[in-house]
Amino acid sequence: MTRAGLSVAVIGGGIGGLAAAVSLLHAGFDVEVYEQASALSEVGAGIQISPNGTRILQRLGLAEALAQRGVRPVAVHQRRWDDGRTLQRAPLGETVERTFGAPYYHFHRADLLAAIAGALPARRVHVGHRLVDAVDHGDRVEARFENGTRISRDILIGADGIHSRVRQILFGEDRPRFTGCVAYRGLVPAERLATLNLEVTSNSWMGPGGHFVHYYVAGGRLMNFVAVREEDSWTHESWIDRGDVADALRLFEGWHPCVRAIIGAVDETFKWALFDREPLPRWSVGRMTLLGDSCHAMLPFMGQGAVQSIEDGATLTACLVQAAGDLSAALARYETLRKPRTTRLQEMSRHNKTRFHLPDGVDQQKRDAQAAVAGDRSIAAVGWLYGHDADVLPGAAA
Ligand SMILES: Cc1cc2nc3c(=O)[nH]c(=O)nc-3n(C[C@H](O)[C@H](O)[C@H](O)COP(=O)(O)OP(=O)(O)OC[C@H]3O[C@@H](n4cnc5c(N)ncnc54)[C@H](O)[C@@H]3O)c2cc1C
Repeated sequence: MTRAGLSVAVIGGGIGGLAAAVSLLHAGFDVEVYEQASALSEVGAGIQISPNGTRILQRLGLAEALAQRGVRPVAVHQRRWDDGRTLQRAPLGETVERTFGAPYYHFHRADLLAAIAGALPARRVHVGHRLVDAVDHGDRVEARFENGTRISRDILIGADGIHSRVRQILFGEDRPRFTGCVAYRGLVPAERLATLNLEVTSNSWMGPGGHFVHYYVAGGRLMNFVAVREEDSWTHESWIDRGDVADALRLFEGWHPCVRAIIGAVDETFKWALFDREPLPRWSVGRMTLLGDSCHAMLPFMGQGAVQSIEDGATLTACLVQAAGDLSAALARYETLRKPRTTRLQEMSRHNKTRFHLPDGVDQQKRDAQAAVAGDRSIAAVGWLYGHDADVLPGAAA
């Protein structure tokens, strides 16, 4: 079967699904995306995309679209929650770009999604298509949507997020795990923070039971923040709730004036319960597989959930290109190549919950002393992560 003759259905038009579709299209596959919502959209918040993700998107022809929309932070800066003392400062900007051959960006999520979607012809994206069922007939997959549409494709990829229907079809019901963390997210017009003279850096403040992240997005016009606190339970039905700014300020009582000024300057904030999942034993069955949050949902404490979904799409494409007709073997290979890396990141993200939120005391002092001599964000420490080239399969010429 030629690549052009191989048809692929991607279920889900989030960052992972769209990036995978662009990868597949670029490689010559006949790919279409099916998204349940009536329009492609992302939450009003920021996202960090490290060079292991931007490298892939640039190769797909998106360099200019990314450069137009992204903010390039000059450094990553971790600070202590109360007095603002620097715990760790490592270069991003030109140093990262020179070392890893691709930039580190901050985006408004809608801007990133629009950049990726812009590389797909409109006829290949079907909104208002909520997958209900999919059956592998051995020689093709048949999928049924809530609106009555039925399709038959050679391969079906579930990129349908943490609540994935495809995952449920393949492996049965399995509830995600509440991680004991909630995040208040907000976007503040930059001019409101002018007197703080904030640098163009990726900032996080570590404190007992929580941490606070902020960085510029939207060409520097907005300051994005994520204010994370530990909470024992999540009793609301929704995973997202309108958050009260006064509540967020109360939870960050005693934190550095800069943290409180950013929270206090926002008009509205949304409160998110943070869920993750245990690593799955398998991702693929026959002609169906998963990518992104559908198979490796993780806490956002490595800033890698979306980046890993972009890597998934690149590796999956490379495996299909080399498949020589054996599609289920290609999907199995994809899973074998990807799972150790995403499992490591799921575990590191979980571990960072403890590490970031240590109460002041001996363990916190050890963490801070270690960060001062060998920070986990130094160029040497992030080499395995940012240097990974998900397009290149082991044994293949680069
Ligand atoms: C606070 C926070 C901060 C984060 N920061 C970062 C960061 O800085 N960097 C980073 O890399 N990651 C970050 N992440 C993680 C990142 O947001 C996710 O990992 C990423 O968005 C997952 O993308 P996805 O495409 O796999 O899933 P999703 O974005 O969830 O997309 C799934 C899509 O599938 C659709 N869908 C669902 N069910 C169906 C169905 N039955 N039929 C059809 N369509 C369906 C949905 O409508 C949706 O559009 C963060 C997460 C949080 C919560």
